[in-house]
Amino acid sequence: SGLNFDIMRRWFAYRGYDVTFVRNVTDIDDKIIKKAAEQNRPWWSIGYDNERAFNDAYAALGCLPPTYEPRATGHITEMVEMMRGLIERGHAYEADGSVYFDVRSLPGYLSLSNQDLDELRQPAGEGETGKRDPRDFAMWKAARPGEPSWETPWGRGRPGWHLECSAMAHKYLGSEFDIHGGGIDLIFPHHENEIAQAKGFGDAFARYWVHNAWVTMSGEKMSKSLGNSVLVSEMVKAWRPVVLRYYLGTPHYRSTIEYSEESLREAESAYARIEGFVQRVTELAGHAVEPAGEVPPAFAEAMDDDLGVPQALAIVHTTVRQGNSALAADDKDAAVARLAEVRAMLGVLGLDPLDA
Ligand SMILES: [Zn+2]
Repeated sequence: SGLNFDIMRRWFAYRGYDVTFVRNVTDIDDKIIKKAAEQNRPWWSIGYDNERAFNDAYAALGCLPPTYEPRATGHITEMVEMMRGLIERGHAYEADGSVYFDVRSLPGYLSLSNQDLDELRQPAGEGETGKRDPRDFAMWKAARPGEPSWETPWGRGRPGWHLECSAMAHKYLGSEFDIHGGGIDLIFPHHENEIAQAKGFGDAFARYWVHNAWVTMSGEKMSKSLGNSVLVSEMVKAWRPVVLRYYLGTPHYRSTIEYSEESLREAESAYARIEGFVQRVTELAGHAVEPAGEVPPAFAEAMDDDLGVPQALAIVHTTVRQGNSALAADDKDAAVARLAEVRAMLGVLGLDPLDA
């Protein structure tokens, strides 16, 4: 989930990196156009609703705001420029007012998902006429009646889904950047196509890819289309946001979370143990104990090893237990020292009850 990337970003900031965190807003796509037609509303009002809902959910869960949140429709100029460059370099072509990427023109296409292009079977999408190869993908779709469209050298149309990411990454992160994140379900075709566009354009693009696993319910991915999605906006009515953050943010990013109320209750009591310790020592000290300047080395080691949040969280709980033993032994100095460490670690995870 987005929480994995919030914790990653906080960890990099702790490590002294000046993090530029960009979260794209897809404010035009097939789903938005369809919903707008169904509800007889302008497409852009659906886009704003989606964006607001996402941002509210992220904020409720304590995610820091991104450095930039570019909207796709604000970057048509950059997209046109990228398509022009790709056509000039022989990686793209116009057909019937749409612009397609020529997948055979780029050696190394599909290397992220480790697929063989010869074995790839891609049915042509709806209205995708004039493709040279069925596996070529649409960067730009020719205008259709009743749909929003923008003027380009190839006629009016609208962006396909993949182009916005390559164009906005180029603008906000330059030709090469460190990390691209996203759900594991986006590796193909979305991320492969982002790479193809960027590399064809001459960008080195992402040095590392970080793909997070899904939240599932009864073994199925939670999604709005499946109708089994418990939306964060609903969840925050029933659960404290910090408990949701603990529950959704502390498993390893590559681990699937099987959502259940029972496991959420376990997270709630685990967090209550941490919170109880923070409260007891704060009362004993008579003032808020400042977080330690550094996290314990074992916590840092866990975080540096592929963002090992579960192992790092285990260090938090170990330190809480040590602090409780110090409390039981009336060793105030030791208890206060453990609390300072616990607060430093919780700050990195965005779970400090005193920060709320
Ligand atoms: Zn993308």
